[in-house]
Amino acid sequence: MIKIRHKKPECIGCKLCADEAPQYFQMDEDGLAQLLESKQQGVFQLADGFDEDLEDLKRAEEGCPVDIISIEV
Ligand code: SF4
Repeated sequence: MIKIRHKKPECIGCKLCADEAPQYFQMDEDGLAQLLESKQQGVFQLADGFDEDLEDLKRAEEGCPVDIISIEV
């Protein structure tokens, strides 16, 4: 299981994560990325990811221009 952490308040709405890993990220009505099925912890959204989605999640993590997505395997 992969641990995903997303700092939504700093999202700039570029949509990269929603394109690379749409099973985990969707743009909300304010144009910010929402981590699906997540729980809130302070400013972070936390969720679990499936191992088979690692490549998608890595592309989101590495591509986020403001570096607010982190994954831990
Ligand atoms: S890649 Fe980063 S900045 Fe772009 S929408 Fe996703 S979380 Fe926001």
